[in-house]
Amino acid sequence: MARTGILIDNRWREAESGKTIPVIAPAEGREFARIAAATERDVDSAVKAARRALETGAWGKLNAAERGRLLSKMAIVVADHAEELAQLEARDTGKPIKQARNDIVAAARYFEYYGGGADKVHGDTLPFLNGHFATTERVPHGVTAHIIPWNYPAQMFPRSIGPALAMGNAVVMKPAEDACQTPLRMAELMVECGFPEGSINMVTGYGHQTGAALSGHPDIDFISFIGSNATGVQIQRAAARNHIGCTLELGGKSAQIVFADADLDAALPVLVNAIVQHAGQTCSAGSRLLVERSAYDRIVDRIAEQFGKVRVGTPEMDLDLGPVVSRRQQERVVGYCDRAVADSIPTIASGQLADGLPSDGFFVEPKLFGPVPRSNALAHEEVFGPVMAVMPFDDETDAVALANATRYGLVAGVWTRDGGKALRVSRRMQVGQVFVNCYGAGGGIELPFGGMKKSGHGREKGFEAFHEFSAVRTMVIKHE
Ligand code: NAD
Repeated sequence: MARTGILIDNRWREAESGKTIPVIAPAEGREFARIAAATERDVDSAVKAARRALETGAWGKLNAAERGRLLSKMAIVVADHAEELAQLEARDTGKPIKQARNDIVAAARYFEYYGGGADKVHGDTLPFLNGHFATTERVPHGVTAHIIPWNYPAQMFPRSIGPALAMGNAVVMKPAEDACQTPLRMAELMVECGFPEGSINMVTGYGHQTGAALSGHPDIDFISFIGSNATGVQIQRAAARNHIGCTLELGGKSAQIVFADADLDAALPVLVNAIVQHAGQTCSAGSRLLVERSAYDRIVDRIAEQFGKVRVGTPEMDLDLGPVVSRRQQERVVGYCDRAVADSIPTIASGQLADGLPSDGFFVEPKLFGPVPRSNALAHEEVFGPVMAVMPFDDETDAVALANATRYGLVAGVWTRDGGKALRVSRRMQVGQVFVNCYGAGGGIELPFGGMKKSGHGREKGFEAFHEFSAVRTMVIKHE
């Protein structure tokens, strides 16, 4: 059984309390690893190590190209360990092995992208008063805290720390207690790669203990958080108390708008995958399917046919989706489905559980419900499971109103052959990312990603992330 510790100053140690937390494999429903339960004192040691790395350690002395080189080296190391990491990710999260393999490819790409960009971020010279020379430079915040969820740990780890390290921050990360094996292994590889002491520190534990200790620590300079809305509010409060900035990437209730003229052959597999991928436990999951009423029956029949073929299995069976992450999450998803049935919402289609699934695994049957009334919970609450709500709309104006009728604002998809309509609708979406005739579901390392409204604020991924993890310093020199 794997047993992992806390990483501080490039050394692994147990929590000072000696306490550990069991990690459950979702497909098996039983413990397969234990992680340390870091205390406030452990978190404090990690923050102090990061501060030392910046002020007196080797990390603060590296220039941008040197930092970039280390990150680029990690891209190669991750690719070299791809299969080991994919197996770990699949067991820890329950996702099919092919999805885990894709996640590791993405993880390597994050290191590559942020490594390559480290020495390409620069300031400006600015027209100013006569006799003055004005310039800006991008400087690191200092010690950055990173709190990530359990759905894509292998991707979230480099996505969050990559740009921060590239900009010269020293980082302390708290991965999620439900799934954090690949971040811990990648941190180990970073030490082997040559990242100096204190540049990358890892503290594991429960959110209300370790996470709260980290986000509330008085000596951090910035927080990057990905997770639930409820926790996002607490993070924002903690940041406010310390007068520091934060980025919040929270949930979503993303709409896929399908017009009658859409190319259904192209759309169908993408629409289904957008809710099936990692059992719907994706912040950008396309969980609302908005269908033009004039073609409702035709389109819904085709989706139902495709959705009915979806199969749930273990990571090794490598089917369309695996279990959800925990018993709690399983009960939550099943609860939503039971309430939908109790509310007399028709079940359009169900996915299939494969034969021979372990009886203790956290498997749930994928469900396509519709038509879902606009006031129903399924129309506006994030289920975070393989449950799709189908809703008809009348015309372009109604589609826009319906898509925006949620407190979330993360991603939208627009499917039509009419270019003008695609552009008009896309530009009225109150979301951070819109896809036309495709759906990236948050994908694309190069593409800035983040929410509007209650999906959070700030942008990660892409070049934008360099700006989030740095501050502008303006300098004016009077020379006349
Ligand atoms: P969560 O917000 O509780 O956990 C996310 C991370 O925050 C974990 O590392 C957790 O330990 C930490 N955390 C929890 N409480 C904390 C606190 N008080 N202070 C600091 N850190 C804390 O989310 P969850 O319970 O894992 O999932 C619940 C819901 O969150 C899901 O159903 C889904 O709606 C949403 N979610 C969104 C994403 C996303 O990518 N946007 C990812 C996972 C979950």
